[in-house]
Amino acid sequence: MQVAKDKVVSIDYTLTGPAGQVLDSSKGKPPLAYMHGARNIIPGLERELEGKTVGDAFTVTIPAAEAYGERNEQMVQAVQREQFASVPNVQPGMQFEAQGPGGARALVTVTRVDTTHVTVDANHPLAGMALTFEVKVVDIRDATEEEKQHGHAHGAGGHSH
Ligand code: ZN
Repeated sequence: MQVAKDKVVSIDYTLTGPAGQVLDSSKGKPPLAYMHGARNIIPGLERELEGKTVGDAFTVTIPAAEAYGERNEQMVQAVQREQFASVPNVQPGMQFEAQGPGGARALVTVTRVDTTHVTVDANHPLAGMALTFEVKVVDIRDATEEEKQHGHAHGAGGHSH
């Protein structure tokens, strides 16, 4: 069986950033199960996996544009410190869920704090980075009808709900 649309694919993976730092890995965890062709994973990695079979292993570096996108400096904003009045001791590195225009929820990261303002960055933490994936395909199966309706994988390594 080959990786194709509507297959549930299980992969072992290690993700490293531009400086070689490990950002995420399935090591010591069950493989990640995702539904191919359903945009469950970043586009560049999905394309590389197309047509692979169980046992295939590869390493690929994906440019930011096909990973989490380029950084957008307009998504960095300084807001009045009073808006964080409910957060005791707000510090750079803290992350908050914020509601963006249109109601979409986004994770923002505090990048700077001074006496009057808090600077928050709504870019994805991995935006602007070329990402290297070391991947091994460990299982491929047909998606169930329910999985196709939901647009994601169920069971081990997938969604549990
Ligand atoms: Zn589901």
